[in-house]
Amino acid sequence: MSNSENRKPDLVCPRCRSLIEVLTNSPLECVWTIYSCTTCLYAWRSTEPGENTEPENYPEPLRLKAKNLTKFAVVPTIPTKLKFTGMQNLFQKGLIMVGPVAS
Ligand SMILES: [Zn+2]
Repeated sequence: MSNSENRKPDLVCPRCRSLIEVLTNSPLECVWTIYSCTTCLYAWRSTEPGENTEPENYPEPLRLKAKNLTKFAVVPTIPTKLKFTGMQNLFQKGLIMVGPVAS
């Protein structure tokens, strides 16, 4: 058996090259596996094309550096809490069916 036949797939994230974990396997054994990156949360199925699954073929403009992840903005942003008005209280109690509108 040659070395390449015995080789396991790369066990690093295609996007940021950090460690990955197995999320789940197909219900029918050995059909596919879903992997996830523990750093950037990128996830992919083993049956996807190499540009999605192989670090050397992952599109360079989409690659991330793990050390930069903390500098990225949180998307989507968490909305500010709305002040409750009389109409919103009625909506919450189910007395009206139209919800409050953010201002
Ligand atoms: Zn990653």
